[in-house]
Parts: sequence; structure tokens; C-alpha cells
Amino acid sequence: MAAVVEPAYELFIGGKFVPGSGGERATLLDPATNDPLTTVAVGTADDARHAMEVADAAHRSSPWGGDDGSRRTRALLKLAQLLDADAEAFALLESRNNGKTLREAKGDIAFAVRTIEYAAGLADKLQGETIPVPGARFNYTLREPLGVTVHIAPWNFPLVLALRSVVPALAAGNAAVLKPASLTPLTALRFAALAPKAGLPDGMLNVVVGSGGTVGEALIGDARCRSVSFTGSREVGARVAELAAKRMVPATLELGGKSPVVVLADSDLDRAARSIGFGIFGNAGQMCWAGSRVVVDAAVHETLLRKVAAIAGSLKVGPGTAPGTEMGPLVSADQAQRVLGYVDAARADGGTVVVGGTRPTDGALARGNFVLPTVVDGTPPTSRAVAEEIFGPVLSVHAFTGLDEAVRLANDTPFGLFAALWTRDLALAHVVAQRLEAGMVTVNEPPMTFPQSPFTGFKASGLGFEQGIDAVRAYTRRKNVLVNLGLPKPK
Ligand code: NAP
Repeated sequence: MAAVVEPAYELFIGGKFVPGSGGERATLLDPATNDPLTTVAVGTADDARHAMEVADAAHRSSPWGGDDGSRRTRALLKLAQLLDADAEAFALLESRNNGKTLREAKGDIAFAVRTIEYAAGLADKLQGETIPVPGARFNYTLREPLGVTVHIAPWNFPLVLALRSVVPALAAGNAAVLKPASLTPLTALRFAALAPKAGLPDGMLNVVVGSGGTVGEALIGDARCRSVSFTGSREVGARVAELAAKRMVPATLELGGKSPVVVLADSDLDRAARSIGFGIFGNAGQMCWAGSRVVVDAAVHETLLRKVAAIAGSLKVGPGTAPGTEMGPLVSADQAQRVLGYVDAARADGGTVVVGGTRPTDGALARGNFVLPTVVDGTPPTSRAVAEEIFGPVLSVHAFTGLDEAVRLANDTPFGLFAALWTRDLALAHVVAQRLEAGMVTVNEPPMTFPQSPFTGFKASGLGFEQGIDAVRAYTRRKNVLVNLGLPKPK
């Protein structure tokens, strides 16, 4: 067995690295080879409670949440600078841990830096309002931090999706406790170590690694938890919502998707095909908002299918850290197996695998979790390969006749995270965008977002939103204060 290549990692609580109380360690594997990458401390429910206690004490004792916000702005800007200065190392670590290409990982870190800068700019702009009421009274609202916020992140964009909720919570004056995915905790831990250097009081940002069922549930169940932000699967999201409801704390849920890409006959098919490739093979398809179902006008179905299949067939698949790799491995052997199971289901249900559908035959990739970019045509919508989220590089293509059928097929999913539309008719585009049941719609663009735009899902894709001004406000509570000024009634 190969030696580990990264230093060992511990939990981060109270401004320092600490071992897990149970002494357990997990070995993380390189997804490209399944060789050991490093080991990490595995936290227990006691560690979760300890982190909540430390965060609560920090919140109560430091001026972080109570002053005018300028301290938070400065500290967060410093945090962004520190991350940016170390971006190369963070990107390499993310690529090694998750398997994504170095190029994708660099994009992730740049997005994370921008996320912090954006939230930093809002930290000193959270304010209440005065409200006119009858009589000699002064009526106003205060915006206060919630207290201790809990954040549970998935493995597909480990640092970006953790910071997407943690940083707005910090900007709003809260103390945060993060549980990263067990498979990919490394960049979050490395990031946490920057917090004291940036001037965050110890205990404001804590990271507890450990299983969702143990550490995650202990964090949500803790009496000091004042809100939960969860990004992950629909099934676990439902459990998180149940636990949060029992404690009467708000839960933001960013869940799965089965997003349609609607291609009308007048589209620029070359651009559409490239964008479709980016939207399903980027991050090896492990994206909540992957455009995994193409719904294309029957008149251009064959042409588009050929173009997308050519792109899929030409992608260079390899280790994420190798120069020139365009698609890396999946995060784990289990995930690769699961994805191939869906391809088998598509075949069994009558779909035609046009390209891919297997592991690569290249012997150098045999030990890794690779699945070739796959395009399947004509699978019935009732197949589980079309109805369920695959979370891998598998695209299904469906032809439509008439706009109503296009919209019906696009919306024929329990999910509603994202939809893309391709047409040159921008007037029609607005009309179709309104008919698509998705929290985010792009027109003539791949899946694309910015820290200032809301990220939100309809239907089974979630509740609430991340990103944008409202996401920072969501980590505050409004208090109404009514003061009787004690003046005599005017005659
Ligand atoms: P997951 O299995 O739901 O896990 C997500 C996180 O929840 C992990 O940290 C996991 O911990 C934790 N967890 C598991 N059971 C828990 C429990 N009972 N209580 C509290 N936390 C628990 O999802 P995943 O496989 O990591 O990620 C893939 C899913 O995330 C896909 O469905 C994808 O669509 C979705 N996703 C959504 C968005 C969005 O913005 N809408 C973005 C990215 C991903 P462990 O790692 O220890 O299991």
C-alpha cells in the first residue's frame, strides 16, 4: 500500500486543531488510485457538543456579533486574502481529496474567495428600520445574529458549498460549526486554520469531522443550535428538516436535482452542445444542478445528439491532478458503482448508450473510480435512470414535438433546482423561462451562478436559498422594539 501524501488532519475547535475524543481516525483515499491520501480524526457526539459549547461561549463573550460589523468586514476580507494567497495549495488539496480536475478546483477556490468578499461587504450593512405607529411612540426593529449556526456540507464542492453558508452566517455575527462530508473534509480544515490569522475570535469557526448520523445529528439536536444549513441529498435533507422542526430552528435545505436542458430548433447547436457537455461532465457530473436531461426538438435531435456524443467521446479522462485532464474520477468506488448501475438500468429499460457507459479500458486508470462520459438516448421517462438523480457523468436525451411537450417533459421530475434553455428567440425565452419549474433558469448559458445571485431550488430540491443579500439576512433575527415616549397626549 502506498504511503500517505498529505499531513494528517484533526478537528478544529476553539481556534485550534484537537484530536477526536474517541481516538478514531479515518483513512481518506485518492479517488484516482484508491491509494491512501491521509488520515483524519473522526469526531464523536461528545466532540459535536463540545464544539457547540465552545461556539456558544465565543458568541456570548466576543464583540463579533454585537458591534457595528466593521470588525467582521475587516476580518472576512483578510480571510479572503489569506485564502487567495494560498489558492494553489487549496486547489491541489481539493483535487486530491475529491478527484476533480485541478482546473475545476482552482475555479472552486476563486469562487470561495469571491463568496467571502461579497459577504464581507454586507457585514456592516445589516440594519433595522423605524416604523411609524400611532401616538407618542418610537417603534423600530433590530437585526440580531441568531447565535450558533450549524452547517452540513456535501463532498462534491467541499470548500465552496461549506463556505457558501458558513461565511454569510459569520458575516451576520454568528458563531458557526461546520460538519463537512466524511469523504472530503480536508480543505475545510485547512481553511479553518486561517480564521485566527484573519482575526476571527477563537470559537467563531469550528469544524467537526464525523459521520452525519452521529456528529450531524448531535449538532442539530444540541440546544444551542439556532439554525441549520444543509446541502446534500433529498433523503438526508428530509431527516435534517425533521430534526430541525423538533427543535423549532430554521433549516435551509439545498438538495438534489434532475435538471433539464431544453434545446429549441433555432438554437446555436454547437454552443448548446459544448454547454451541455460542461453541464453534465463538469465535476464528473457530480453537481446538484447538472443538466442531466436534454429535451431537444425532434427536428434537431439527431444533429445535437451527434455533437454532444462527439464531445463526450473526446474528453480526456484521468487523474484530476494530471496536466490536460478534462474529467476526473468520481469521488469514491461506491459512487462509480452506483452510477454504472443507473446506466445498466437505462439499457434494461430500452435506452441506447451512444457513447461511454463503462469504466475506461486504459489500464493506468483501472484502480481509480473512473466512469466514461456517457450519453444515453431514448430512455423512457419512467426509467429510474431518468427519474432519479444519478450524480455522475451520464446524460439522457429525449426528443419533443411542440413547445408544450418540451415544457411538460422538462417539468416532469420531482426536482426543481435548475433548468437551461437554448434558443435564439429571446422574447420566447422569457415566456418559457416562466413556465419552467426551477429555482434557477439560464438562457443560452451552462449552469452558472455568482455569490450575489440566489441559489435556490423548487419542489424536492429544497427550501430557502443560499447566496445573495437575503442569504446573509437569513442568518439574523428581527426584533421589534416599541417605546412609549411618555409624552402627554396632544390636545
Ligand atoms: P448526503 O449523503 O446527503 O450527505 C450530505 C451531508 O450530510 C454529509 O456531510 C453527510 O455526512 C451528512 N449527513 C448524512 N446523514 C446525516 C444525518 N442523518 N444528519 C445530518 N447530516 C447527515 O449527500 P452527499 O452524497 O454528500 O452529496 C450529494 C447530494 O448533495 C446530491 O443529492 C446532490 O444533488 C446534493 N447537492 C445539492 C446541492 C444544492 O445546492 N442544491 C449542492 C451540492 C450537492 P457523511 O459524509 O458523514 O455521510
